[in-house]
Amino acid sequence: MPASYAAITSIPKPLPTPKERYDALIATYASKPLRLVTLEVLGMLDAPLCAEDSPALPLVEHSVVITVDTEAWTANTDQLTELGIVIAEYKDGKEMGAEIGDYAEYVMKKMKYHHLRFVENVHLKTTSPWMRGAEGNRFGQSRFVTFAEARRILDRILNQPIVSDNPELAGLKRPVILVGHALEHDTEHMQSTGLAYDFTQHSTIVASIDTQKLVRELSAWSDPEFPGNRIGLDVLCEEVFNFAHEDPHTALNDAARTIFCAVNLALRNWMVGRRRGMAKSMQAVATDIEEYSQDNFASPWGSAVCCTRCGARDHANTLHACAAPVYCLACERFDVRDRGDETHVRSHSERFCVHVAEFMGWKRRVIDARRKINYLPDGPPEGSHPPFKWKGIWPMDSPEDVLVPEGPPTPPLGDFMRRPSDFDPVRPVREKGVKVATLQSNARERAEKEKRVRKHVVKAAAVKKDGWKVDDAWNGTAW
Ligand SMILES: [Zn+2]
Ligand SMILES: [Zn+2]
Repeated sequence: MPASYAAITSIPKPLPTPKERYDALIATYASKPLRLVTLEVLGMLDAPLCAEDSPALPLVEHSVVITVDTEAWTANTDQLTELGIVIAEYKDGKEMGAEIGDYAEYVMKKMKYHHLRFVENVHLKTTSPWMRGAEGNRFGQSRFVTFAEARRILDRILNQPIVSDNPELAGLKRPVILVGHALEHDTEHMQSTGLAYDFTQHSTIVASIDTQKLVRELSAWSDPEFPGNRIGLDVLCEEVFNFAHEDPHTALNDAARTIFCAVNLALRNWMVGRRRGMAKSMQAVATDIEEYSQDNFASPWGSAVCCTRCGARDHANTLHACAAPVYCLACERFDVRDRGDETHVRSHSERFCVHVAEFMGWKRRVIDARRKINYLPDGPPEGSHPPFKWKGIWPMDSPEDVLVPEGPPTPPLGDFMRRPSDFDPVRPVREKGVKVATLQSNARERAEKEKRVRKHVVKAAAVKKDGWKVDDAWNGTAW
Protein backbone atom coordinates (compact mmCIF):
# COMPACT_ATOMS: atom_id res chain seq x y z
CA MET A 1 0.00 0.00 0.00
CA PRO A 2 1.53 3.41 -0.94
CA ALA A 3 2.28 5.62 2.04
CA SER A 4 0.01 8.62 2.38
CA TYR A 5 1.35 12.18 2.13
CA ALA A 6 0.52 12.78 5.78
CA ALA A 7 2.46 9.67 6.83
CA ILE A 8 5.55 10.73 4.86
CA THR A 9 5.62 14.26 6.25
CA SER A 10 5.21 13.02 9.80
CA ILE A 11 8.42 10.89 9.61
CA PRO A 12 11.08 12.88 11.48
CA LYS A 13 14.05 13.92 9.35
CA PRO A 14 17.08 11.78 10.20
CA LEU A 15 19.74 13.65 12.19
CA PRO A 16 22.79 14.76 10.22
CA THR A 17 25.77 12.45 10.64
CA PRO A 18 28.89 13.79 12.38
CA LYS A 19 30.60 13.93 8.98
CA GLU A 20 27.75 15.99 7.50
CA ARG A 21 28.01 18.44 10.38
CA TYR A 22 31.79 18.76 10.03
CA ASP A 23 31.62 19.05 6.24
CA ALA A 24 29.02 21.80 6.55
CA LEU A 25 31.23 23.75 8.97
CA ILE A 26 34.32 23.29 6.79
CA ALA A 27 32.37 24.47 3.72
CA THR A 28 31.01 27.51 5.60
CA TYR A 29 34.46 28.62 6.77
CA ALA A 30 36.03 27.96 3.36
CA SER A 31 33.48 30.30 1.75
CA LYS A 32 33.87 33.20 4.20
CA PRO A 33 36.64 35.80 4.57
CA LEU A 34 39.36 34.67 7.02
CA ARG A 35 38.76 37.85 9.00
CA LEU A 36 35.18 36.82 9.80
CA VAL A 37 36.18 33.20 10.51
CA THR A 38 38.79 34.48 13.00
CA LEU A 39 36.20 36.58 14.82
CA GLU A 40 33.58 33.82 14.81
CA VAL A 41 35.80 31.07 16.24
CA LEU A 42 36.97 33.37 19.02
CA GLY A 43 33.34 34.03 19.96
CA MET A 44 33.47 37.65 18.81
CA LEU A 45 30.69 37.68 16.20
CA ASP A 46 27.06 38.33 17.16
CA ALA A 47 25.44 36.20 14.43
CA PRO A 48 26.89 32.86 13.33
CA LEU A 49 28.41 32.57 9.86
CA CYS A 50 26.44 29.46 8.93
CA ALA A 51 22.71 29.45 8.15
CA GLU A 52 20.21 28.88 10.95
CA ASP A 53 19.25 25.47 9.59
CA SER A 54 22.82 24.39 8.88
CA PRO A 55 23.78 21.05 10.44
CA ALA A 56 27.03 22.81 11.47
CA LEU A 57 25.33 25.31 13.78
CA PRO A 58 25.33 23.25 17.02
CA LEU A 59 29.07 22.62 16.62
CA VAL A 60 30.11 26.28 16.53
CA GLU A 61 29.88 27.04 20.25
CA HIS A 62 32.20 24.13 21.04
CA SER A 63 35.07 25.46 18.90
CA VAL A 64 38.59 25.57 20.24
CA VAL A 65 41.31 27.67 18.63
CA ILE A 66 44.87 26.33 18.71
CA THR A 67 47.78 28.56 17.70
CA VAL A 68 51.05 26.70 17.17
CA ASP A 69 54.67 27.41 16.38
CA THR A 70 57.60 25.02 16.26
CA GLU A 71 61.31 25.75 16.51
CA ALA A 72 64.22 23.55 15.54
CA TRP A 73 67.90 23.70 16.39
CA THR A 74 69.68 26.37 14.35
CA ALA A 75 72.49 23.93 13.43
CA ASN A 76 70.17 21.10 12.35
CA THR A 77 66.54 21.73 11.46
CA ASP A 78 65.80 18.01 11.81
CA GLN A 79 66.08 18.47 15.58
CA LEU A 80 62.85 19.95 16.92
CA THR A 81 63.55 21.82 20.15
CA GLU A 82 60.31 23.63 21.06
CA LEU A 83 56.58 23.72 20.55
CA GLY A 84 54.53 26.78 21.48
CA ILE A 85 50.77 26.33 21.89
CA VAL A 86 48.17 28.99 22.67
CA ILE A 87 44.65 27.74 23.34
CA ALA A 88 41.56 29.94 23.03
CA GLU A 89 37.93 29.00 23.63
CA TYR A 90 34.90 30.20 21.68
CA LYS A 91 32.87 30.37 24.88
CA ASP A 92 35.36 32.75 26.53
CA GLY A 93 34.85 35.28 23.74
CA LYS A 94 31.08 34.91 23.95
CA GLU A 95 31.04 35.42 27.72
CA MET A 96 33.21 38.51 27.39
CA GLY A 97 30.87 40.29 24.98
CA ALA A 98 31.96 43.73 23.78
CA GLU A 99 34.34 44.43 26.69
CA ILE A 100 37.49 43.17 24.99
CA GLY A 101 39.88 45.88 26.21
CA ASP A 102 42.39 47.89 24.19
CA TYR A 103 43.71 45.84 21.26
CA ALA A 104 41.70 42.84 22.50
CA GLU A 105 43.79 42.68 25.68
CA TYR A 106 41.15 40.80 27.67
CA VAL A 107 40.67 38.26 24.89
CA MET A 108 44.41 37.56 24.94
CA LYS A 109 44.44 37.24 28.74
CA LYS A 110 41.81 34.50 28.60
CA MET A 111 44.03 32.32 26.44
CA LYS A 112 46.29 29.59 27.82
CA TYR A 113 50.00 29.64 27.02
CA HIS A 114 52.06 26.44 26.82
CA HIS A 115 55.79 26.40 26.10
CA LEU A 116 57.00 22.84 25.59
CA ARG A 117 60.71 22.03 25.28
CA PHE A 118 61.66 18.61 24.00
CA VAL A 119 63.72 16.56 26.44
CA GLU A 120 65.47 14.72 23.60
CA ASN A 121 66.96 17.98 22.28
CA VAL A 122 67.14 20.09 25.40
CA HIS A 123 70.96 20.35 25.19
CA LEU A 124 70.87 22.01 21.75
CA LYS A 125 71.31 25.72 22.40
CA THR A 126 70.83 28.19 19.58
CA THR A 127 73.95 28.90 17.53
CA SER A 128 72.66 32.32 16.49
CA PRO A 129 74.16 35.23 18.45
CA TRP A 130 71.02 37.34 18.04
CA MET A 131 68.56 34.75 19.32
CA ARG A 132 68.03 33.26 22.76
CA GLY A 133 66.26 30.11 21.64
CA ALA A 134 64.09 28.35 24.19
CA GLU A 135 65.67 30.39 27.01
CA GLY A 136 64.05 33.52 25.59
CA ASN A 137 60.46 32.45 26.30
CA ARG A 138 58.35 35.35 27.57
CA PHE A 139 54.90 33.79 28.02
CA GLY A 140 53.59 31.45 30.73
CA GLN A 141 56.25 29.05 32.02
CA SER A 142 58.38 26.56 30.11
CA ARG A 143 57.86 22.85 30.56
CA PHE A 144 59.94 19.86 29.44
CA VAL A 145 58.27 16.97 27.61
CA THR A 146 59.47 13.99 25.61
CA PHE A 147 58.26 13.57 22.04
CA ALA A 148 56.00 10.73 23.22
CA GLU A 149 54.45 12.94 25.92
CA ALA A 150 53.96 15.76 23.41
CA ARG A 151 52.09 13.42 21.06
CA ARG A 152 49.71 12.49 23.85
CA ILE A 153 49.21 16.14 24.77
CA LEU A 154 48.42 16.96 21.14
CA ASP A 155 46.02 14.02 20.97
CA ARG A 156 44.16 15.40 23.96
CA ILE A 157 43.99 18.89 22.48
CA LEU A 158 42.89 17.80 19.03
CA ASN A 159 40.58 14.97 20.03
CA GLN A 160 38.28 16.40 22.68
CA PRO A 161 34.76 15.06 23.11
CA ILE A 162 32.01 17.67 23.22
CA VAL A 163 30.50 18.04 26.69
CA SER A 164 26.88 19.07 26.15
CA ASP A 165 23.29 18.39 27.21
CA ASN A 166 22.28 18.38 23.55
CA PRO A 167 21.69 14.72 22.57
CA GLU A 168 22.36 15.64 18.92
CA LEU A 169 25.99 16.19 19.80
CA ALA A 170 26.56 12.92 21.64
CA GLY A 171 29.85 11.36 20.63
CA LEU A 172 31.02 14.32 18.54
CA LYS A 173 34.43 15.95 18.83
CA ARG A 174 35.08 19.63 19.38
CA PRO A 175 35.90 21.45 16.13
CA VAL A 176 39.49 22.72 16.05
CA ILE A 177 40.69 25.86 14.28
CA LEU A 178 44.42 25.91 13.68
CA VAL A 179 46.20 29.29 13.68
CA GLY A 180 49.81 29.98 12.72
CA HIS A 181 52.25 32.10 10.77
CA ALA A 182 53.43 30.23 7.64
CA LEU A 183 51.56 27.25 9.09
CA GLU A 184 52.69 24.78 6.44
CA HIS A 185 56.26 24.95 7.80
CA ASP A 186 55.08 24.00 11.27
CA THR A 187 52.75 21.19 10.25
CA GLU A 188 55.46 19.76 8.00
CA HIS A 189 58.09 20.13 10.71
CA MET A 190 55.96 18.27 13.20
CA GLN A 191 55.63 15.33 10.86
CA SER A 192 59.20 15.11 9.57
CA THR A 193 61.07 15.40 12.88
CA GLY A 194 61.24 13.20 15.99
CA LEU A 195 57.80 14.43 17.03
CA ALA A 196 56.30 12.64 14.00
CA TYR A 197 52.83 14.09 14.52
CA ASP A 198 50.10 14.63 11.94
CA PHE A 199 47.70 17.38 12.97
CA THR A 200 44.95 16.14 10.69
CA GLN A 201 44.80 12.58 12.05
CA HIS A 202 41.72 13.14 14.21
CA SER A 203 39.78 14.87 11.39
CA THR A 204 38.73 17.61 13.80
CA ILE A 205 40.32 20.60 12.06
CA VAL A 206 37.61 22.67 10.39
CA ALA A 207 39.70 25.70 9.37
CA SER A 208 43.28 26.96 9.25
CA ILE A 209 44.01 30.62 9.76
CA ASP A 210 47.41 31.70 8.52
CA THR A 211 48.38 35.27 9.41
CA GLN A 212 50.24 35.59 6.08
CA LYS A 213 46.95 34.91 4.26
CA LEU A 214 45.04 37.20 6.61
CA VAL A 215 47.48 40.05 5.86
CA ARG A 216 47.00 39.49 2.14
CA GLU A 217 43.21 39.29 2.40
CA LEU A 218 43.13 42.60 4.25
CA SER A 219 45.87 44.23 2.11
CA ALA A 220 47.52 45.16 5.40
CA TRP A 221 51.06 45.06 3.95
CA SER A 222 52.99 44.36 0.81
CA ASP A 223 56.70 44.30 0.10
CA PRO A 224 57.46 47.56 -1.77
CA GLU A 225 60.20 45.88 -3.82
CA PHE A 226 58.76 42.40 -4.29
CA PRO A 227 54.96 42.56 -3.96
CA GLY A 228 54.75 38.75 -4.16
CA ASN A 229 56.78 38.26 -0.97
CA ARG A 230 55.06 36.96 2.13
CA ILE A 231 55.27 38.94 5.33
CA GLY A 232 57.56 37.84 8.17
CA LEU A 233 56.27 37.76 11.73
CA ASP A 234 58.80 40.44 12.75
CA VAL A 235 57.51 42.83 10.06
CA LEU A 236 53.90 42.04 10.99
CA CYS A 237 54.53 42.90 14.66
CA GLU A 238 56.88 45.81 14.17
CA GLU A 239 55.79 47.50 10.94
CA VAL A 240 52.10 46.70 10.68
CA PHE A 241 51.32 46.93 14.40
CA ASN A 242 54.25 48.88 15.87
CA PHE A 243 55.17 46.63 18.80
CA ALA A 244 58.52 44.88 19.34
CA HIS A 245 58.97 41.22 18.44
CA GLU A 246 61.57 40.62 21.13
CA ASP A 247 63.25 37.22 21.46
CA PRO A 248 61.94 36.01 18.11
CA HIS A 249 62.12 32.40 16.99
CA THR A 250 61.19 31.18 20.43
CA ALA A 251 58.16 28.98 19.90
CA LEU A 252 55.69 30.49 22.35
CA ASN A 253 56.75 34.11 21.71
CA ASP A 254 56.03 33.51 18.03
CA ALA A 255 52.75 31.64 18.64
CA ALA A 256 51.44 34.23 21.14
CA ARG A 257 52.27 37.18 18.89
CA THR A 258 50.79 35.35 15.89
CA ILE A 259 47.36 35.08 17.54
CA PHE A 260 47.68 38.63 18.93
CA CYS A 261 48.27 39.88 15.38
CA ALA A 262 45.53 37.66 13.95
CA VAL A 263 42.92 39.05 16.36
CA ASN A 264 43.98 42.62 15.70
CA LEU A 265 44.07 42.12 11.93
CA ALA A 266 40.54 40.76 12.09
CA LEU A 267 39.44 43.69 14.28
CA ARG A 268 41.26 46.38 12.32
CA ASN A 269 38.23 48.08 10.79
CA TRP A 270 36.30 47.85 14.02
CA MET A 271 39.25 49.20 15.98
CA VAL A 272 39.93 52.24 13.76
CA GLY A 273 37.12 54.32 15.22
CA ARG A 274 38.03 53.35 18.77
CA ARG A 275 41.75 54.01 18.74
CA ARG A 276 41.49 57.54 20.06
CA GLY A 277 39.66 56.35 23.12
CA MET A 278 42.29 53.77 23.99
CA ALA A 279 44.38 54.35 27.09
CA LYS A 280 47.14 51.91 26.12
CA SER A 281 49.49 51.51 23.19
CA MET A 282 49.72 48.16 21.44
CA GLN A 283 53.24 47.78 22.88
CA ALA A 284 51.91 48.29 26.42
CA VAL A 285 49.21 45.68 25.83
CA ALA A 286 51.74 43.23 24.35
CA THR A 287 54.01 43.58 27.39
CA ASP A 288 51.09 43.27 29.80
CA ILE A 289 50.00 40.00 28.20
CA GLU A 290 53.51 38.59 28.67
CA GLU A 291 53.58 39.47 32.34
CA TYR A 292 50.00 38.38 32.95
CA SER A 293 50.59 34.97 31.39
CA GLN A 294 53.74 34.43 33.48
CA ASP A 295 51.97 35.32 36.72
CA ASN A 296 48.68 33.56 36.09
CA PHE A 297 49.32 30.49 34.08
CA ALA A 298 51.57 27.46 34.59
CA SER A 299 51.18 24.65 32.09
CA PRO A 300 50.20 21.42 33.90
CA TRP A 301 52.10 19.35 31.35
CA GLY A 302 55.62 17.93 31.53
CA SER A 303 58.24 18.80 34.15
CA ALA A 304 59.46 22.20 35.25
CA VAL A 305 63.11 21.18 35.02
CA CYS A 306 65.28 18.78 33.06
CA CYS A 307 68.93 17.95 33.63
CA THR A 308 71.09 18.15 30.51
CA ARG A 309 73.75 16.12 32.28
CA CYS A 310 71.83 13.00 33.29
CA GLY A 311 68.40 13.50 31.69
CA ALA A 312 66.51 13.41 35.03
CA ARG A 313 63.34 15.50 35.27
CA ASP A 314 63.47 16.40 38.96
CA HIS A 315 66.48 18.70 38.85
CA ALA A 316 68.38 20.98 36.51
CA ASN A 317 72.11 21.14 36.08
CA THR A 318 72.28 24.87 36.63
CA LEU A 319 74.76 25.69 39.41
CA HIS A 320 76.14 22.17 38.80
CA ALA A 321 73.51 20.64 41.07
CA CYS A 322 73.76 17.25 39.36
CA ALA A 323 76.15 14.65 40.73
CA ALA A 324 74.86 11.60 38.85
CA PRO A 325 77.61 9.41 37.36
CA VAL A 326 77.68 10.08 33.61
CA TYR A 327 80.27 9.78 30.88
CA CYS A 328 80.37 10.30 27.13
CA LEU A 329 81.93 7.38 25.27
CA ALA A 330 81.85 9.38 22.02
CA CYS A 331 84.00 12.13 23.54
CA GLU A 332 86.20 9.50 25.17
CA ARG A 333 86.83 7.92 21.79
CA PHE A 334 86.87 10.81 19.33
CA ASP A 335 87.36 14.12 21.09
CA VAL A 336 90.89 15.23 20.25
CA ARG A 337 90.67 18.61 21.95
CA ASP A 338 89.81 17.20 25.33
CA ARG A 339 91.70 13.94 25.08
CA GLY A 340 92.64 12.71 28.51
CA ASP A 341 90.39 15.29 30.18
CA GLU A 342 88.31 13.18 32.54
CA THR A 343 86.18 16.09 33.69
CA HIS A 344 84.97 16.70 30.14
CA VAL A 345 84.11 13.05 29.48
CA ARG A 346 82.25 12.94 32.80
CA SER A 347 80.43 16.21 32.24
CA HIS A 348 77.64 14.75 30.06
CA SER A 349 76.25 11.55 28.56
CA GLU A 350 76.47 10.79 24.85
CA ARG A 351 72.73 11.38 24.57
CA PHE A 352 73.36 15.04 25.40
CA CYS A 353 76.69 15.41 23.59
CA VAL A 354 76.76 18.67 21.63
CA HIS A 355 79.87 17.55 19.67
CA VAL A 356 77.95 14.57 18.30
CA ALA A 357 74.88 16.73 17.59
CA GLU A 358 77.03 19.19 15.60
CA PHE A 359 78.58 16.33 13.63
CA MET A 360 75.16 14.86 12.80
CA GLY A 361 73.84 18.29 11.74
CA TRP A 362 76.81 18.74 9.41
CA LYS A 363 76.39 15.20 8.05
CA ARG A 364 72.79 15.99 7.23
CA ARG A 365 73.82 19.18 5.38
CA VAL A 366 76.44 17.25 3.38
CA ILE A 367 73.90 14.61 2.34
CA ASP A 368 71.42 17.35 1.48
CA ALA A 369 73.98 19.24 -0.63
CA ARG A 370 74.94 16.08 -2.49
CA ARG A 371 71.28 15.36 -3.20
CA LYS A 372 70.79 18.84 -4.63
CA ILE A 373 74.14 18.67 -6.49
CA ASN A 374 75.46 21.68 -4.55
CA TYR A 375 78.95 22.30 -3.18
CA LEU A 376 79.48 20.23 -0.04
CA PRO A 377 79.75 22.36 3.13
CA ASP A 378 83.22 22.50 4.73
CA GLY A 379 83.67 20.37 7.77
CA PRO A 380 83.26 18.59 10.03
CA PRO A 381 82.78 21.64 12.28
CA GLU A 382 85.64 22.30 14.66
CA GLY A 383 85.34 20.26 17.83
CA SER A 384 82.57 18.04 16.47
CA HIS A 385 82.96 14.29 16.17
CA PRO A 386 80.90 11.19 15.33
CA PRO A 387 78.89 9.13 17.80
CA PHE A 388 80.64 6.34 19.69
CA LYS A 389 79.35 3.65 17.34
CA TRP A 390 80.73 5.34 14.21
CA LYS A 391 82.26 2.83 11.82
CA GLY A 392 83.18 5.23 9.01
CA ILE A 393 86.34 7.19 8.29
CA TRP A 394 87.76 9.27 11.15
CA PRO A 395 89.46 11.68 11.23
CA MET A 396 88.14 13.09 7.97
CA ASP A 397 90.14 14.90 5.32
CA SER A 398 87.19 16.13 3.30
CA PRO A 399 83.37 16.28 3.51
CA GLU A 400 83.34 13.43 0.97
CA ASP A 401 84.52 11.12 3.76
CA VAL A 402 81.19 11.31 5.55
CA LEU A 403 79.45 9.94 2.45
CA VAL A 404 81.60 6.78 2.39
CA PRO A 405 79.50 3.87 3.70
CA GLU A 406 80.43 2.92 7.22
CA GLY A 407 82.71 -0.11 7.28
CA PRO A 408 83.52 -2.73 9.91
CA PRO A 409 84.34 -1.37 13.37
CA THR A 410 87.64 0.48 13.50
CA PRO A 411 90.13 -1.05 15.95
CA PRO A 412 90.09 0.60 19.35
CA LEU A 413 92.47 3.51 19.77
CA GLY A 414 94.48 3.21 22.94
CA ASP A 415 92.50 2.46 26.05
CA PHE A 416 89.20 4.12 25.15
CA MET A 417 87.21 0.86 25.21
CA ARG A 418 86.16 1.18 28.80
CA ARG A 419 82.86 -0.07 30.07
CA PRO A 420 80.31 1.93 32.02
CA SER A 421 81.18 -0.06 35.17
CA ASP A 422 84.75 1.24 34.91
CA PHE A 423 83.50 4.64 35.93
CA ASP A 424 82.98 5.36 39.59
CA PRO A 425 80.10 7.63 40.48
CA VAL A 426 81.30 11.17 40.97
CA ARG A 427 81.11 11.99 44.64
CA PRO A 428 81.69 15.35 46.27
CA VAL A 429 85.00 15.46 48.13
CA ARG A 430 84.37 14.91 51.80
CA GLU A 431 86.05 17.26 54.17
CA LYS A 432 85.80 17.16 57.90
CA GLY A 433 83.10 19.40 59.27
CA VAL A 434 81.72 20.22 55.83
CA LYS A 435 78.24 19.08 54.90
CA VAL A 436 78.15 17.04 51.75
CA ALA A 437 75.67 17.87 49.00
CA THR A 438 73.41 14.98 48.15
CA LEU A 439 71.83 13.83 44.88
CA GLN A 440 68.51 15.23 46.01
CA SER A 441 68.15 18.46 44.07
CA ASN A 442 66.70 21.58 45.65
CA ALA A 443 66.18 23.25 42.28
CA ARG A 444 62.40 23.27 42.67
CA GLU A 445 62.51 24.71 46.17
CA ARG A 446 64.84 27.43 45.00
CA ALA A 447 62.57 28.21 42.07
CA GLU A 448 59.52 28.28 44.32
CA LYS A 449 61.28 30.63 46.69
CA GLU A 450 62.11 32.89 43.80
CA LYS A 451 58.45 32.52 42.74
CA ARG A 452 59.41 31.21 39.34
CA VAL A 453 57.33 28.07 39.88
CA ARG A 454 53.91 27.83 41.43
CA LYS A 455 53.58 25.45 44.32
CA HIS A 456 50.54 23.67 42.94
CA VAL A 457 52.31 22.53 39.77
CA VAL A 458 52.45 18.74 39.74
CA LYS A 459 55.98 17.50 40.17
CA ALA A 460 57.55 15.30 37.58
CA ALA A 461 57.62 12.51 40.15
CA ALA A 462 53.85 12.12 39.81
CA VAL A 463 54.12 10.30 36.53
CA LYS A 464 51.78 7.36 36.19
CA LYS A 465 52.99 4.01 34.95
CA ASP A 466 51.72 4.69 31.46
CA GLY A 467 53.74 7.90 31.36
CA TRP A 468 50.82 10.32 31.51
CA LYS A 469 51.01 12.66 34.39
CA VAL A 470 48.35 12.85 37.08
CA ASP A 471 46.45 15.83 35.90
CA ASP A 472 43.46 17.09 37.86
CA ALA A 473 43.09 20.18 35.74
CA TRP A 474 42.34 18.18 32.67
CA ASN A 475 38.67 17.48 32.08
CA GLY A 476 38.38 18.35 28.44
CA THR A 477 37.61 22.03 28.73
CA ALA A 478 39.61 23.29 31.70
CA TRP A 479 43.04 24.18 30.36
ZN1 LIG B 1 71.33 15.35 36.55
ZN1 LIG C 1 80.44 14.04 24.36
